[in-house]
Amino acid sequence: MNLDKRCIVIGAGVAGAACAHILADRGWQVKLLDMAKEPCAAASGVPVGMLSCHASPDDNPLSQLTRAGLQATVAFAKEHLIEGQDWSACGVLERRLADSSHTKKPWQEPEQDSVWFSHVQLAQPEQLLQAGLSDELSHDLWQPQGAWIKPLALVRALLSNDDILFMGLHEVESMQKSPATGEWQLRLKNHIPIPNMGSSHTYATETAPHVVIATGAQTPDFLNQVLYEPDMGLHPIAGQVSWGLHDHSADLPKFAVNGHGSFVAHVPTTDGLAWYTGSTFDRHQSHLVATGEAHAHNRQRLSELLPAVADTLASQWNDTAQIKSWNGVRCASINRLPKLGPLDEKRLPGLHMLSALGSRGLTLALLCAQVVADRMEGTPPALSEALLKAMQCELPQG
Ligand SMILES: Cc1cc2nc3c(=O)[nH]c(=O)nc-3n(C[C@H](O)[C@H](O)[C@H](O)COP(=O)(O)OP(=O)(O)OC[C@H]3O[C@@H](n4cnc5c(N)ncnc54)[C@H](O)[C@@H]3O)c2cc1C
Repeated sequence: MNLDKRCIVIGAGVAGAACAHILADRGWQVKLLDMAKEPCAAASGVPVGMLSCHASPDDNPLSQLTRAGLQATVAFAKEHLIEGQDWSACGVLERRLADSSHTKKPWQEPEQDSVWFSHVQLAQPEQLLQAGLSDELSHDLWQPQGAWIKPLALVRALLSNDDILFMGLHEVESMQKSPATGEWQLRLKNHIPIPNMGSSHTYATETAPHVVIATGAQTPDFLNQVLYEPDMGLHPIAGQVSWGLHDHSADLPKFAVNGHGSFVAHVPTTDGLAWYTGSTFDRHQSHLVATGEAHAHNRQRLSELLPAVADTLASQWNDTAQIKSWNGVRCASINRLPKLGPLDEKRLPGLHMLSALGSRGLTLALLCAQVVADRMEGTPPALSEALLKAMQCELPQG
């Protein structure tokens, strides 16, 4: 049977852009809708993010997924982005700080045949020294393939394909299967900004046999209010990043650091090099308001993650005018894995989803989009059955 390769993707964050990219690359005609004027208007607007794997000695599903996701994203970045400007293969130092609530299993240096061999090693004394840390009793890890990336640059590169039509200011208000054609019919509210007067709107309809929902933290509302379906336990997690410009004298690590919050420096911006730290993690919250309390929280965590760096930046933190913020909302699932693939093949044929990318959307979006496209084309995805099952969408069967 010939597959009708027309698709509407809803949401132009990194998830929607990755789906649009993979599908267009495979010969699909894609319309990418977003209620915002431009792509990356929500969580994917984070100015910079870290690419890393979740290291676990027992190689749990999140580890398997992040390892494959990191490889896919770095391969794309190498080919399409400018190193040093849009992303940096700087490596990631993962701090394994002792925590009174749970101790982490010790990490054994991986053998050559281990899946971890080229991904996670024990941190070397020189790396710890560069971060102002002592190597005594260190359990810290080094991820040589870790990187930082600017999501806006990633999304722009993903969307540079003539078979993707981006339609900004188009909010999907309702959708249903047309009984006449069997296609999905989307009712769109087209927001029209009117200078100095706010905005107005008109309505339009778009149809396609296939639709991918990639609406980030708005997915629970989308499922409830547009599709009248349950939200599958997806929930928002609000976060605030604190950042500032490099003081010329500051000696900041050249690589990224994570493990208890995160820290990235030497990121070029139009105003000079910048550093970023955070972020806060407010479960079941979707506020977007920057607060001094969140800055204080990020500062405290930085002083635990990298005490020497926190000292170096102390005078900047003391001058609130020098500390900037970015706020966004992640979407997470109960098992902390993305939710992807068909929503319900029998009841809702042609309807797919890629959501709940949590705090690792930049690492995972491209890989997950490949799985979504595989499922749409009826090709077996290159991930284990167990992993696919853990990520499948679970709407109650009607
Ligand atoms: C503070 C913070 C720090 C983070 N740091 C990192 C990091 O270091 N590394 C990492 O990998 N990830 C990080 N993340 C996570 C990453 O940003 C997200 O996982 C990723 O951006 C999610 O992408 P998305 O496309 O699913 O959602 P979003 O980027 O939120 O996109 C959803 C889009 O859907 C649109 N939309 C919603 N409803 C509709 C509708 N009805 N009609 C039309 N359009 C609609 C929205 O306008 C939006 O543009 C961070 C997130 C936050 C908040």
